Amino acid sequence: MIIGENRDMANEERIVDFLICRNCSSPCYVYEIDGQTVIEALCQTCGNEDVREFSLEDEDDAMG
Ligand SMILES: [Zn+2]
Repeated sequence: MIIGENRDMANEERIVDFLICRNCSSPCYVYEIDGQTVIEALCQTCGNEDVREFSLEDEDDAMG
């Protein structure tokens, strides 16, 4: 039996593995998001907890 959960809304509900703390550029694993909106986040590296200071990892930012 195949259970399919992927539907057309996959693009909207993108699950990220972590957020990026803009303050210290560290990955942040303690967060809560709704779709692509950060509701709560806490950077355990620098203590930043301002959701506006976090980016979703897929934000178009040149890597490397
Ligand atoms: Zn930080």
